[in-house]
Amino acid sequence: MAVLELLIYPNPLLKKKTEKVEKIDSAVKKLIRDMAETMYFHKGVGLAAPQVGVSKQIITIDAGKGLICLINPTLVSKEGEMQIEEGCLSCPEVSLSVTRCRKVVVKGLDPEGKEVMIEAEELLARIFQHEIDHLEGVLIIDRVSPLKRELIKKKLKKKSAPKE
Ligand code: ZN
Repeated sequence: MAVLELLIYPNPLLKKKTEKVEKIDSAVKKLIRDMAETMYFHKGVGLAAPQVGVSKQIITIDAGKGLICLINPTLVSKEGEMQIEEGCLSCPEVSLSVTRCRKVVVKGLDPEGKEVMIEAEELLARIFQHEIDHLEGVLIIDRVSPLKRELIKKKLKKKSAPKE
């Protein structure tokens, strides 16, 4: 297993829509293990493949109740609304209030290729929506008002500028 390098905003790969995984081969399984290790290493609650430079539909999540790895995840239903402060490993030091659905049902494949349905509420529901957003090339900064987005972009650009 290995801790992979995290892509940081404004890396263009983070804005790219990802592709479905057609075949769960050993490379995909290894990537999933490495993604989980990377997520735990950075003390994240979720990670999406584009964040480690792979434009594929794979997410890993641990909301404190064990590891969930999902391939080709899709939201099959959603209800309710909540507003929560969110962070993202790819937008360091940014915390934003994002509107999410309170309850979701997610469908996808587990690492063995078996179809699974997961009902999630509150924190877990939020993480699923955040990670599935990543697969669409959507970041938390895309979920706030344009004015706020500009302020954050400036802050992040300053941070990623080369240090003298
Ligand atoms: Zn994120």
